[in-house]
Amino acid sequence: MAVHDHPRQRQAAPRFWGLQRSRTAIMPAVIVGLILLIGLITVADFLTDKYNDARSDRYADQLAQGQQFGDALIEGGFGVRGYVLTGRAEELLPYQLALQALDDLAPTILPKLPAQAGLASGSHIGTRAALGQLLDAWSAAIHLEDVNQRDQAAAVLFSPAVQAARDQLQQQIALYVARAHEMADRWSETADAISRAYQFINLAAVALAALAMIYAFGRIIRAINTGFAAREQTEQLFSMADMLQSAAGQEDTNEVLRATATRLLPGLGGALYVFNNSRDRLDLATRWGGYSEASAGHLAPNACWALKRGKPHMNRAENGALRCSHVNERQVSLEIPMAARGELYGLLEISADPAVADGPARLLAAQPVAAAMADAMSLALSSLALRERLRNQALRDALTGLYNRRFLEEMLERMCLEAERRKAPISAIMIDLDHFKRLNDQHGHSAGDAVLRDAASAILSCLRGTDVACRYGGEELAVLLPDCPLALAAGKAEQIRGRISELTQAGGLAVTASLGVACVPETCGSANELLASADVALYRAKQLGRDRVEVASLRAPPPRLSLIETEGMAT
Ligand code: GH3
Ligand code: MG
Ligand code: MG
Repeated sequence: MAVHDHPRQRQAAPRFWGLQRSRTAIMPAVIVGLILLIGLITVADFLTDKYNDARSDRYADQLAQGQQFGDALIEGGFGVRGYVLTGRAEELLPYQLALQALDDLAPTILPKLPAQAGLASGSHIGTRAALGQLLDAWSAAIHLEDVNQRDQAAAVLFSPAVQAARDQLQQQIALYVARAHEMADRWSETADAISRAYQFINLAAVALAALAMIYAFGRIIRAINTGFAAREQTEQLFSMADMLQSAAGQEDTNEVLRATATRLLPGLGGALYVFNNSRDRLDLATRWGGYSEASAGHLAPNACWALKRGKPHMNRAENGALRCSHVNERQVSLEIPMAARGELYGLLEISADPAVADGPARLLAAQPVAAAMADAMSLALSSLALRERLRNQALRDALTGLYNRRFLEEMLERMCLEAERRKAPISAIMIDLDHFKRLNDQHGHSAGDAVLRDAASAILSCLRGTDVACRYGGEELAVLLPDCPLALAAGKAEQIRGRISELTQAGGLAVTASLGVACVPETCGSANELLASADVALYRAKQLGRDRVEVASLRAPPPRLSLIETEGMAT
């Protein structure tokens, strides 16, 4: 139900912000983690490279040693054969070099040579034995050549056993070299694969770190922009509050609200409703933007969920949503009650375009600003009401609501000046309730107060808008009637007397009043004399038996000049 939307939305917001907060907090950790990972991978790559190089060097050494060993076997064989065939001592040089190489390499190479089972040819002897046999044969052949037994030397050198030992060793060496090759190749492939994997992980980490940095940078920019926007909004709201302070009346506050809302809530319409004096209805004070044409001219407080609950309410367009009865069926609006100092002052309505789907979302986004505007407006309305009350207190009597004596005297002066300028008559009626002391004594002071209030209403019911009624003091009341000659004022006084005597309750309290009427220029010449003249007439009414209207005596016509001159001459 829409009525629960606000609590739900209020819960959703902190969750959203919580999520944002945690994401913002994780982001630096992710970036630092990725940078550490890149560092670790670089170090691991470096160490692996070192290890790979060392291992490759080892394979290369093994390969070289194997090849050297094989070469030495060939070179040595050639050298001995050359010497045996030619008898030239220099032919022995390669043999001696080969002998040295074989002697150096044998301890490392021999244990690593493959087993004889892997060899192609038939009968084999141990590797060491084969080498020994070959070296012995070479040495014996050289010795026989030295003692000029060339044929025997050749027989030893080319004997099938020696040939077989040499072939076996060469096959073993060839196999060893081939395996070393194979191992080196295989290792090189593995090392390449490891290196590629490191490069890939490194690239991925760099890309991720770059993405994370771009994301974090974007968030920073967005946060800065949001900060700017929020500051501008705050400044606008402050300036609204400031301008509302200087608002002289409802019209001024309406104008400030319209201007601020148009600037802070672009694309949204709105309306302001204010309670009427009797507080039984809210009247439309102003509206702005589009989509608010639908706002009613006035609404009853119980037609609005926001006013009933004292909380903002969203009117959604969807079926089954709980909607205020004062909005029309298409309107999408946010209603915000405006309260200040514990009293409701009105309702702020913000409306979205009913044709767009995200209307409620836009209104929710606008809610904080709208609520702040509603707060500022309610404070302004409350201070306007307070000012009005204070003004009334200064001008009006609290019991009857009529103007007080001070105001009447000020008005009298102004009205008389105006009447004199326009040569228009001005009348006054003084009214005194009869035997009011007795009424108080018999029925109590509060009954007396009620009679005073009713008498005030009775008087007001007989007056024109320009007439001024006041409580002159105690149970004495006075009325000023501008543009009213004496005869008309006397008629009005008679009407008032009748209305007051109608307050008399059968078998209960008797309410009557005595009234005195005076008029400038008919009964007196100036404003100063007007009330005194009416008071004299009132006194006469009391004396003549009360519950009556008495008119002050007409002024004597101004003495004629010829008469004064005659009188002067006579004396
Ligand atoms: P009179 O017909 O001669 O005017 O007699 P009165 O009793 O009306 O005149 P008086 O001046 O003797 O008494 C005025 C009374 O009006 C006295 C006072 O208690 C009463 N009064 C004055 N102000 C108020 C008020 O605000 N409320 C009530 N209940 N009585 C008031
Ligand atoms: Mg009196
Ligand atoms: Mg009286």
